[in-house]
Amino acid sequence: MFMFKEKENPLSYQEIYPCPVCRCGRLSNIALMDAFGCDVCRHIFTIHPEKQLLKMADREPSITWRWNGQSWQGEHIGNLELSWFYWLAALAIIIFPPTLIGLSAFLFPPVSGSVWAWFPIMWTVIAFLSHLFLVLWLIAEAYQFPVFLYLRTRWQQLRS
Ligand SMILES: [Zn+2]
Repeated sequence: MFMFKEKENPLSYQEIYPCPVCRCGRLSNIALMDAFGCDVCRHIFTIHPEKQLLKMADREPSITWRWNGQSWQGEHIGNLELSWFYWLAALAIIIFPPTLIGLSAFLFPPVSGSVWAWFPIMWTVIAFLSHLFLVLWLIAEAYQFPVFLYLRTRWQQLRS
């Protein structure tokens, strides 16, 4: 009797998998090699079927993912659980510097009507944006998410 049941889907060299790095490419077995290659980002991977692991071969330190039957789970993320403390620190980095600059501009306002009257406001905005960018970049690094590669591929998909 045919039954629809949860299909076990172990890693194998014959299958095609989504790429965990660029999230839009496909991983397939490279002919005559025990390796997988992505058709978009061109990274090379090795798989360990006995452990259900995928390892990035062309990067040091290498990144490892575990196949759960449907998708990849980053092994590295498990070791790098972003706790509330990190989120609080990130928030502080974004909020504090522009607040200090803005507060000093508020307490010691520039002579109104002077040429540089706009400067403290501009500086506050720049401080906010630069610190926001810094934190976003750190988060992307922590999760090994290739922002530029992802954006470029999405852009190419939109245009075609
Ligand atoms: Zn890829």
